[in-house]
Amino acid sequence: MKGKGLLLVVSGPSGAGKGTICKALAQANKDVYLSISATTRSPRCGEVEGESYYFKSEEEFKKMIENDELLEWAAFCNHYYGTPKESVYKMLNEDKNVILEIDVQGALKVKKKYPDGVFVFILPPSMEELRNRIINRGTESQEVINARLNTARLEFTHINNYNYIIVNDTVENAVRNLEAIIIAERCKVERNQQIIKEVCDI
Ligand code: 5GP
Repeated sequence: MKGKGLLLVVSGPSGAGKGTICKALAQANKDVYLSISATTRSPRCGEVEGESYYFKSEEEFKKMIENDELLEWAAFCNHYYGTPKESVYKMLNEDKNVILEIDVQGALKVKKKYPDGVFVFILPPSMEELRNRIINRGTESQEVINARLNTARLEFTHINNYNYIIVNDTVENAVRNLEAIIIAERCKVERNQQIIKEVCDI
């Protein structure tokens, strides 16, 4: 799997705002493609099939694993989540910057398969703020909120596997930082060997 586009893996605790940041970035940049995951969790109010997720039964999800349709998959808070590989490869080959908004377990799997990827961790300004954001979302029971906060603490222990962190104080700042990361990564010498060869004749 070797395309020209960047593969950006964005993780961070539930409620850190990574979904909002990634969506805003994709809306503002037509060279950014936000991968749509498959999941066995139920749709939240307002979520749309094929836009937010591909909502699957457990049986359907297991079929996708068997048929090797997923680039990675993981179990998160009692549900399965996975990245359909076909559209990711297609977009990378079209020189798009592809964003996978996935959990830490999935990110570590992608890192093994695709060490060229750029790994970004989104942090909330504080744990207090994270708790408030999850509560204010109003879509989860107390039990699920607690499970997600515990998972967040576990996810923090893997932060050193990432290349960048972004503190999501405001969405505007966070999007600007993510754009800056993409620009800097695309300017890296090791990603530009072809043009260097052509221009410099070396
Ligand atoms: P949520 O249920 O809040 O939409 O997502 C829960 C967690 O699953 C989030 O951390 C989200 O990034 C992660 N997630 C979403 N899609 C995928 C995926 O395709 N693979 C993996 N490994 N995690 C995912």
